Amino acid sequence: MERMSEALQRGAGDDLESRVKRAGGVLTIDLDAIVANWRLVTARLRPGSRCAGVVKADAYGLGMAQVAPALASAGCRRFFVATIDEGLALRTLLPEAEIMVLCGPFAGTEHDFLAHRLLPILNSPQQVADWAQFARRREQPLPAVLHVDTAMSRLGLNFNQAKAVAEDRATLAAVPPALVMSHLACADDPDHPLNSGQLAAFAAARTLFPGIEGSIAASSGIFLGPDWHADWVRPGAALYGLRPTPRSLNPMAQVARLQGRIVQLRDVDEGKTVGYGATHRVVAKARLATVAVGYADGIFRALGNRGCGHVGERRVPLVGRVSMDLVVFDVTGVPADEVRPGGFIDLIGPRQSVDDLARDAHTIGYEVLTALGSRYYRHYLGRTEE
Ligand SMILES: *Cc1c(COP(=O)(O)O)cnc(C)c1O
Repeated sequence: MERMSEALQRGAGDDLESRVKRAGGVLTIDLDAIVANWRLVTARLRPGSRCAGVVKADAYGLGMAQVAPALASAGCRRFFVATIDEGLALRTLLPEAEIMVLCGPFAGTEHDFLAHRLLPILNSPQQVADWAQFARRREQPLPAVLHVDTAMSRLGLNFNQAKAVAEDRATLAAVPPALVMSHLACADDPDHPLNSGQLAAFAAARTLFPGIEGSIAASSGIFLGPDWHADWVRPGAALYGLRPTPRSLNPMAQVARLQGRIVQLRDVDEGKTVGYGATHRVVAKARLATVAVGYADGIFRALGNRGCGHVGERRVPLVGRVSMDLVVFDVTGVPADEVRPGGFIDLIGPRQSVDDLARDAHTIGYEVLTALGSRYYRHYLGRTEE
């Protein structure tokens, strides 16, 4: 077995052309578009506010190893990740960057933060106390970010807990705050009363820590206006081309394109059914294209009989259920020279954004991006380390 797979691997070239030939789907990621989006956000900020980059969850599924260096080369100096391991991985990519870890330290991981210069985000009185104790034991002040909760009820100190920290001189000496942050619950709905409510609660919390920088806005919060920009903004989604302004046109450049490979074409007669459960019945003679991507690649089952792809300008409906490795499109009427085995159908592309696909799957673009599987051939455009 072992030897056979080695032999197969030797036979299969690792050059770009052979990798593309073997791929059931090609995911193209435009690093220059990500950089352009970071610049577009930066240009919108009130004077004095700066733009960090959120690269958690492997840069929303698009590849932190490529995305983070691209952002850094454009001038991004501060990055947010969710987990300690993501912070460690980012540190090897960017020795100089400032890295803030959203989950904060878990018991026994304090040394990892210190050794790799990760800044913890302290989300509870317990995390504050543990980090302060660690600092005292080391007899050195260890800065950290203080997260205050203003509506999410998820992470962060409430006002009274923040006040207790602010009044505790020993703790403040051990843990000088590097940033006071909060997170908006309803920023994608500009009319939601919680937005201004949270802004007021955040302002109140910040008075407890005079002179310390603040941050409240992620992608959608930035577009609520300059009042929300504080000293730092923390966009993720907008950098990756998702629409931060659900009520208006997307100001961001599209970043991802996803093409699924046509495995075969078949002409079927009226009355035939398609896929598991026979949920789609062909009403007239039809031409079907079977494409080599499925729910294991992040093409959600919810897209069955709802989603679509595109061949050039033409919309082609996704028919039947989504299988693990395959989906079927009805390409009846598409000129024969535009669909052929080995060719591609766009699942995300110029005619269908990530947000469009997400809507058909009853979810959000964030979930579509972070669910994209590991089987695609990933092709990076623009600045890259490779
Ligand atoms: C994920 C996250 C962000 C980035 O949010 P986007 O909506 O993707 O811009 C910012 N701040 C916190 C606390 C987060 O968890």
